[in-house]
Amino acid sequence: MGSSINDILMEDFQNVVSELLMRNRSILDILTKIQTSSGRVNRSVVKAVTHCGCIEIDGKKQVFPGEVSMKHLSGLMSTQLKGELCPECRQTIEKEIGAALFYIAALCNTLGISLYDVVLSEKETLGTLGSYSLR
Ligand SMILES: [Zn+2]
Repeated sequence: MGSSINDILMEDFQNVVSELLMRNRSILDILTKIQTSSGRVNRSVVKAVTHCGCIEIDGKKQVFPGEVSMKHLSGLMSTQLKGELCPECRQTIEKEIGAALFYIAALCNTLGISLYDVVLSEKETLGTLGSYSLR
């Protein structure tokens, strides 16, 4: 239904990335940028905890309930997260995720892979496997 719009959006994104990526066109630069940007996503989440404090992490061992249907499992397993992102931290994290997506798209461009096809294929796999694909 809305997939053609998503298709255009994703291909457009990939084209813009291709046009903007002038300096770090080497596959080696792109691979290291993926690593760095992914680390920056994690850093921005951690900073929301340690510097801002709008969210807290309440980490402890979680017991996987044996006799429960997969349907109810998501309600039982905790994110171990308390609070909600403030607008500033949300903006920072969104910016870092965007940068990480940029370099993923750049990798796709370099290898001649369609980001849209990747997302579509992953979604189809998840739909086919259902609860067997839980990660
Ligand atoms: Zn915050």
